[in-house]
Amino acid sequence: MTNGSSPAGCRAGAGHHVNVNDRGDPMPLSPELLSILVCPACKGDLVYEEGLRRLTCNACRLRYRIEDDIPVMLVEEAEKF
Ligand SMILES: [Zn+2]
Repeated sequence: MTNGSSPAGCRAGAGHHVNVNDRGDPMPLSPELLSILVCPACKGDLVYEEGLRRLTCNACRLRYRIEDDIPVMLVEEAEKF
């Protein structure tokens, strides 16, 4: 009647995911979409500011906002900076 040694039940690394994103972070814009987007005013490259959810044209000094993951590529809607 031996009471065995400690039961080998320590399972390390069973897929335990920590929930980091329960705020429902928005999806980032896809790289394909970003690569085809240009400034509607000068047709130049835009800088995607992910944290700020906007696209910036440094040549025109205009900022285009992103609404519901869709960039608003309208010069009249853009914000000067
Ligand atoms: Zn521009």
